[in-house]
Amino acid sequence: SSFTDMPLSKATLEGLADSGYEQPTEIQAASLPFSLTGSDLVGAAKTGSGKTLALVIPLLECLWREKWSSEYGLGALVISPTRELALQTFNTLNSVGRHHKFSCALLIGGTDVEFERKRLGSVNILICTPGRLLQHMDENEQLNCDSLLMLIIDEADRILDMGFKKQINAIISNLPTTRQTLLFSATQTKDVNELSRVCSPNAVFVSV
Ligand code: AMP
Repeated sequence: SSFTDMPLSKATLEGLADSGYEQPTEIQAASLPFSLTGSDLVGAAKTGSGKTLALVIPLLECLWREKWSSEYGLGALVISPTRELALQTFNTLNSVGRHHKFSCALLIGGTDVEFERKRLGSVNILICTPGRLLQHMDENEQLNCDSLLMLIIDEADRILDMGFKKQINAIISNLPTTRQTLLFSATQTKDVNELSRVCSPNAVFVSV
């Protein structure tokens, strides 16, 4: 099958083609039917299996279907364990999302908090690491998560291994419960299962 057989917006299909993506990988083919129809999802997927696109595509489609624009504020939040992974997701999002009009920002350690603070008010999509996100949630009135449609937790096992359990739970408790949640993890540890019960108790489980 090909991405053109999927019910995707023209903008996303063109972004995929421009970025050189034609056929879904296994994790993409298995998860998109659920993530695109609004289900919460726990995806077991190794690094390198194509999970970045498996999260970028439903994120773009979710905001597109809601006709999201800058004045609606923050619509989607992606939490990554490391700056490197956050940057990779940010780059894929900007490439595949190039024909959409969403504004997207990175919130990662090692960058200028003051600069981030000023522009957060008009951002639609945030890609962040847990510590930095929580810092903004605590101190920054520009960051308003009240209309959030989608929460994505990437490499949840690594986030928890790095000791961010408390931070992740604090972040989740600040988010509207009506959101859609996607959680990806290479391994299904006890901590991952516990987190998925907290953030997406009715999730569909997809493993490839
Ligand atoms: P990821 O697991 O998301 O880090 O992706 C691993 C590699 O696979 C990256 O270099 C992607 O660009 C590539 N990739 C992901 N999805 C596809 C696809 N549908 N077709 C071709 N390459 C892909």
